[in-house]
Amino acid sequence: MKEYPTKTQVLTEPRPNFKRGLMDLVSEWKKEFYGGWEQEFEETQMLGLAVLSLRICALYNVGLVDVTIGEVDSFSPKEQHIYLTKPSVITMLHELAHHLFGPDELQACRWSVWIYQLRFRNDYNKLVWDQHRIVRPSSRKAKQSK
Ligand SMILES: [Zn+2]
Repeated sequence: MKEYPTKTQVLTEPRPNFKRGLMDLVSEWKKEFYGGWEQEFEETQMLGLAVLSLRICALYNVGLVDVTIGEVDSFSPKEQHIYLTKPSVITMLHELAHHLFGPDELQACRWSVWIYQLRFRNDYNKLVWDQHRIVRPSSRKAKQSK
């Protein structure tokens, strides 16, 4: 069983050191893609997440990754591929963090959760912590992410 960080470890200050331009990039993406997000088709949401991932990869100057629906939320370094069980901004950011920074769960959790709480505050406030994950209250028994 993989070791996951606790809520306290993830949220402890100081916030992660984000690359310059990242927060503006996320804000721009939100304006373009996130209005009416809940009503979008899954295909449109996945397209939006793919755009977000490639813009962040470009900012961090790393190779691009594919983002598609898969059976388990995961990042495959071998395939350079992020699999998501459903379109989810925070899960995509988490898996993308593994592409950017490697397998360290604390780093991946901190980077993705901090972006999410800083830039998707309304959504973040609707989620609840379920051990190391933050999820919608209705999906507490959802599959474990890697
Ligand atoms: Zn992870």
